[in-house]
Formats: sequence, C-alpha cells, structure tokens
Amino acid sequence: MKTEINKFVTEERCIDILSTLVKINTTHPNGNEMDVMKTILSFFKNYSITYHLIDHGENRGSLVITIPGKDASASVAFIGHVDTVPIGEPTEWSYPPFEAIIEGDYMYGRGTADMKGGVTCMIMTALHLLEQKITPAHDILFCFTADEEAGGMGILAIKESGYLDRVKELIVPEPSNEKIGIAEKGALWLDITVEGLPAHGSRPELGVNAVEKFVEFTDRFKAEVDTEFTHPLLGKATISVTKLEGGYKTNVIPDFAKASLDIRTLPSEKNDIVIKKANKVAKELMQELEHLSIKIKVENNRPPIETLPDHIFIKKVKRTFDELSIPVEFTGLYFYTDASQVVPDLQIPFVIIGPGDDKMAHQRDERIQISSIARVTEIYIRYVLDYS
Ligand SMILES: [Zn+2]
Repeated sequence: MKTEINKFVTEERCIDILSTLVKINTTHPNGNEMDVMKTILSFFKNYSITYHLIDHGENRGSLVITIPGKDASASVAFIGHVDTVPIGEPTEWSYPPFEAIIEGDYMYGRGTADMKGGVTCMIMTALHLLEQKITPAHDILFCFTADEEAGGMGILAIKESGYLDRVKELIVPEPSNEKIGIAEKGALWLDITVEGLPAHGSRPELGVNAVEKFVEFTDRFKAEVDTEFTHPLLGKATISVTKLEGGYKTNVIPDFAKASLDIRTLPSEKNDIVIKKANKVAKELMQELEHLSIKIKVENNRPPIETLPDHIFIKKVKRTFDELSIPVEFTGLYFYTDASQVVPDLQIPFVIIGPGDDKMAHQRDERIQISSIARVTEIYIRYVLDYS
C-alpha cells in the first residue's frame, strides 16, 4: 500500500494543485474564498462526491467534503482555511505573490505556507481515497474554511451546521514543520478605557490622572496573572500593551486614556480566569478612588487548547510517524487556529500537522517546501487507512 501512496502523491500533482490555489487571490479583507471553493470542487469533477457548500455572501464561502466510510459515523475531520493575510507592500516582494514561482524545492507566494500547502495535502488525501476506491472505516470530513485570519465565520458556520458533532478527532494542517502540534496558546485582546478628572498640571492632587491610573492598572493586573509558569511547549503567558492613547497637553492632568492589551494565555490559566482578574483589579482601583472609571471590553477571546501526549489519538499519530520513519517531535503553537473555535465546545482531541514553517506565515516572500507537501499527504493517507 505504501508504494501505491508514493505513486499517487507525486510532487507534480502537489505543484499542480497548490499553484492553482496560490494564483487565486484570497487576501483579507475581501477573502473571495468562494473562488477557491469552486476550484476545489473542480478537482473532484470525475467523482460523485458528497459535499456541502456554505455561501457566506459577497463571494465568500466554506466547504465540507465527506468521504463516506463503512460506518456512517464520522471519525476524523481535517480543517484548513483558504483565506490569507494581505501582501503588504508588493514592491517589497522579490517573488510576485500570486504567481506560484518555483525555485528548487520551494514554491513562493502568499498563502503557500499559511496554509494552501496544508489545504493541498487535504485535497490530495481525499482524491487518493476516491481514486483508489478506498472506503475508510468511518466517514472522513474535509472542511475548507473562509475567514480564519479574522473572525472565523467559516469554521463557526460549519460548527453551527452540525457537521462536526459526530467528529472524534481533528487534524489541522497549519504549518508545523511536519512536527506534531498538540498545544496552542490562547489569545485574549482587551480594550481598556480609563476616565479620570482633569486638573491643571501644577495641581495634580485635584485631578485623577487617567494615564497614570492605566499604568497602575496594568502593573497590578500583570502581578495577578501567572506569567512565570513555563508550559513545556508553549513557554510563558504574556501580556503586552499594544495600543495606547491619552492626554491632551503637557500641563493638563489627563482625564482619559485608552489602551489595548494583547494577552497570550496558557491552558493552566484560561481566558475566563484572566478576564476575572482584570475586572477585579479595575474594581479595586475604582473603589480606592472617586472619579475613576475603568471599562474593559473583550475584543477577541480564543481559548488555549491542548491534547495530552498520552492521549490515544496522539499515540496513533505517533505510530503513523514511526511507520513512515518520520521522526516524532511535539510542538506548540504560539498563535491560534480554527481549532480554538471548536475544540472547547466539542471536547475532541486535535493535532496540528502541516507542511511548511510557521515562521513563514504572514511574511513577504512566503514559501513552502514542495517535498514537505508530499510527505504530509502520505502521513494523512496512512493515518486514515490505519486508524479512521
Ligand atoms: Zn493559518
């Protein structure tokens, strides 16, 4: 069976599919993911497949392709997004971002690594099952999503459609350098608005300095949150002030400050606990001082998630790597993926295994190793054949 996979998963086929996808511009904010969904369906035109195309409007769409198993209950779902971040300044690219230029073992272009390369692995896996007339033990779902780089409307619509309710294992083909990603940091973005009392710069004791109170809030909040504990794959939780404005004039005590915090959380201290701590510190400061108001708004809330390394799913994935003589190395992702939108609700284990380097994501001259796409496709096919 291994040789049959090798015969099918050729680099020419990977290049053919990936270059077609890269040449379709799916950058934010427009996305235009529906163009990719139609193209993906065209790859399957020789087969009568079961699919569900979700129209989000404005040429945006998501797609679920089901490869039916012997048992109608689902087992594995692959989830990959087709939208990409913008290209930035085009003149700063040495390789045109939508031409899929190949040099050696690399293809260059926006979305090659994040994550049309991984999407190519999904398409190749589904095509292999169809071409070889393989009926897996259970249904396999291939979910192609829109809008992962923003609000995640694609994965949320698929979740609401109920498709994922019967899924037991989740594979996310985001770039992991062919390592096994089993943990993902959470993201919590807070907007802080502080209102105080203005006063003349010579009489600060008559005012409430909103800028200084924001600094005090941040110091106390940082002291409350555990940023010392080190997760073996994710490092430490972090809190960064990423936006700040306040004050009008050098000699006026400012009565307002506005700031944004980017907090990256660990499974050991989840987002809801961190939100509670922020509210507690704000409340304490307001109780200590009249004419002070601190308002906290949650702008983005993606929970930290992890699958434990001794989980049966991870053991099966490890065995697949062993069988293909690929070295097993676990990794954690510092950024969030579509998995954070479904794992906590559905309570299912996930892994992130994909071709390409996550450090290439969102960079200019983004690129992916073509041989890596073939290797990862082989991992997926092997896993589906052995363990679905
Ligand atoms: Zn991504």
